[in-house]
Amino acid sequence: MKSKKIFIMLIIVICLIFTSCSKNSDEIKTLFLGEYKTENQIIEVEVLIEDNALKHIELLNSNNSQMQITSVYLFEDILKNSDNNLENYTQIEKELFFAVENAIENSGYDFDDLVLDKQTEIKQSYNYDVVIIGAGGAGLTSAIEAKNLGYENIVVLEKMSFAGGNTRMSNGCYAAPNNWNQDAEAQKLDSEEIFLKDLYEGGLNTGDLNLLTVIAENALENAYWLKDEIGVEFQEDLTWYEGHEYTRALRIEEDGIGLANSLVEKANEIGIEIMYTTTADELILNENRVVVGVRARRAGEVVEVFSNTGVILATGGFSSNTSMLKDFGNEEYIQSNDVKTTNSPAISGDGINMAYEVGAQLIDMSEIQFYPITNPATGNFYKLDDARLNDNAILVNLNGERFVNEHETRDVLSETIISQPKGEVYQILDPDTIKRMDIENLYPLEIEQCIELGVLYKGSLKGCAEYFGIPYENLTNTIEQYNIMASTGFDSEFQREGIQPISDGEFIMFSAISSVHHTMGGVKIDENAQVLNENGEIIKGLFAAGEVVGGIYGENRLGAAALPESIIFGRIAAQSLKILE
Ligand code: ADP
Repeated sequence: MKSKKIFIMLIIVICLIFTSCSKNSDEIKTLFLGEYKTENQIIEVEVLIEDNALKHIELLNSNNSQMQITSVYLFEDILKNSDNNLENYTQIEKELFFAVENAIENSGYDFDDLVLDKQTEIKQSYNYDVVIIGAGGAGLTSAIEAKNLGYENIVVLEKMSFAGGNTRMSNGCYAAPNNWNQDAEAQKLDSEEIFLKDLYEGGLNTGDLNLLTVIAENALENAYWLKDEIGVEFQEDLTWYEGHEYTRALRIEEDGIGLANSLVEKANEIGIEIMYTTTADELILNENRVVVGVRARRAGEVVEVFSNTGVILATGGFSSNTSMLKDFGNEEYIQSNDVKTTNSPAISGDGINMAYEVGAQLIDMSEIQFYPITNPATGNFYKLDDARLNDNAILVNLNGERFVNEHETRDVLSETIISQPKGEVYQILDPDTIKRMDIENLYPLEIEQCIELGVLYKGSLKGCAEYFGIPYENLTNTIEQYNIMASTGFDSEFQREGIQPISDGEFIMFSAISSVHHTMGGVKIDENAQVLNENGEIIKGLFAAGEVVGGIYGENRLGAAALPESIIFGRIAAQSLKILE
């Protein structure tokens, strides 16, 4: 925090020096500060102007993650487009734009006179022992492991102005058989073999048994590594996920934010350099086609970063890249819609494309996993969706009818939801559930935001039905029918177990769509995290870990498996590094 303040003061000093040179002076490279005051905060940005060209824009005060994420694509857009149509902007986009406009006013330039998207080929060259692309869960883990193995100079290139990637946005659930939170009985019954069977069957028997075995055999050891070596705090309870025979998902305190923060803190503590706002574009090969570095863009410059041991790709999947989703996805729904995603906009398949350019084999690229219940306005998860596992929470479609066993696996739920009218469904939380889970006190902010976004209604059943345009009569029929089945404890319609009657009074109803959540396709690796080419041969100097990797799970991935996978293969990638000859 202190270093951030010093950094901002330094920038102000630089700006004061530079702004004293008018645009007519000889000074050609200039940084300017701009700000915009909202009701709650002052947004500060910095712009870099060089040779009459707008080169780079950066958000300086970045404690609002929605704003950080928005700034990444908005600033790229401003850098490319002179035609900024504010009418189509969201509130956050407008606020960021006004801060940029203010910085340009402060520069004395006119927005319209600035040249946009002009890359100068000023090449800077760096050399490191280890180069990792992407400071998410897998990348930071690789970096920490590499340091522990004795490598000295390690750099992680990160596109965003903060670390953590999608890992930061995840729910922080980590599946490990025989873990410390399971009771004695479950510890006795659960095993690596059963976990492996669950992962394989969860992927409809199409996953890679060798890679899945690596996950099953190492999940517990790496949960201890996170807890004991990295200082990650775990909650005392567990979460059950569809497809797992035993309840075995550990929950990290503060979800993905807790995990990302612990990894970043550890990386900082042991002297790992994270080169922020640096977008890797291209892998560099030597004359023997060994990967020896990466070409990246940083503040309007092209930089080359060389490595003595090769490069670890940890850039995540391609859930935010609409054109890749359309290129590879088979589903009619993906082809005919600009689907929303639960992912950060930075997760755009860059690593997959870079690896492909040097001959990597891509596998399972059409296997795209949706998350069933997400906010139709944003594509984000609903914390409120936790309530779905209650025995008296149900989903209905626009006709007010139930259409699925609400406890089905993610893929079944998503597929069914996508095929409902408008691709939209409605989750009903009855007064008993609201009270028992203390929903209003647990999620007040989410409820307020969702009301503002028009995706949540609180009130009588009739009010809910009218708000979402659902025929009230159908809805009451559905609930009556459900309550009759609940009195026998058996759901004869969709075979859901343990259903309980729905109470009457004040309900919460929210609308939901399925959004792209995980791309199971990516680069093919072996058990040592080495990237393979079309012939199944190792591409020397290239390693990959995390969601950039494809072909592990096959057609479906079980919940709480991605975190152990990123951590395990992140460490393995570092263990596989060798000084290149
Ligand atoms: P994983 O779970 O596989 O570790 P994450 O989504 O947590 O994936 O992290 C991926 C990270 O890679 C994100 O922080 C993202 O911003 C970063 N990233 C993606 N593309 C690039 C790129 N071209 N250059 C640098 N960083 C990138």
